[in-house]
Amino acid sequence: MRLKRHQKAERNINFYCVNFGFRKPFQILVDGTFCMASAQNRVQLREDIPKYLGGEVKLLTTQCVIIETEALGAAVRPAMHIVKSFGIHKCGHSKKTISGANCIASMTKENMNTRYIVATQDKALQNILYHLPAVPVMYFNGLSIILKAPSPASLVQAKERKQSRFQLTEHENKVLTSMKNSTTGIVTSTTEDSTSYPGVFTRAKGPNPLSCKPKKKKIVDETVIEKVKNTTKRKRHRIKIPQHVKEELKKMKQVS
Ligand SMILES: [Zn+2]
Repeated sequence: MRLKRHQKAERNINFYCVNFGFRKPFQILVDGTFCMASAQNRVQLREDIPKYLGGEVKLLTTQCVIIETEALGAAVRPAMHIVKSFGIHKCGHSKKTISGANCIASMTKENMNTRYIVATQDKALQNILYHLPAVPVMYFNGLSIILKAPSPASLVQAKERKQSRFQLTEHENKVLTSMKNSTTGIVTSTTEDSTSYPGVFTRAKGPNPLSCKPKKKKIVDETVIEKVKNTTKRKRHRIKIPQHVKEELKKMKQVS
């Protein structure tokens, strides 16, 4: 059962690493409610969270969260001591502090860049974060820390990012079109001259003159044609010597 919980955590954190660039050490943004639960369950967050996520973590909070837990008095004192031991990230509410939940929600609005994992027991805050993409949420389920599975908002955002990786930019599209035209010879009208981009040349129409043999000029001499027409085949005239003449000649040779 323990193995299964770790496997789920690994799968969920990998999703954020692959799709939204989460890296170790993971930044865990902790609120007072989560610290209260850890105090009640006697869980050492600095030890248990890195084991659970399989990597180093930075436990962080905000000034608003600390002020809120201080204001709640003795009932949440153990939580206050824990939350004060963590690093403080600037939330931008130094002039006028707001509730811990609102402060953490504002910290995760740009979470594709800031990459926080939020640790909270506050159901209302969890509901707000459910609708924001790329915000992993951790909470205590009894004694166990659980990293929630990615919300639909995160799944949709991850899919869109994957698709956009394969989409060409406007400039890439124009370069590709001009390259295609130069190879196929089809010229499509573009609003902008493609030669305005460095490295893009329009190809001269027709074949490359350097790779062509010079054409042989056909000179038709009419006088030659006339001569060919007029000349008839010369016939060989064989002078036939009649047989009796041949015999006479033989006889003459023999006598002489
Ligand atoms: Zn704040």
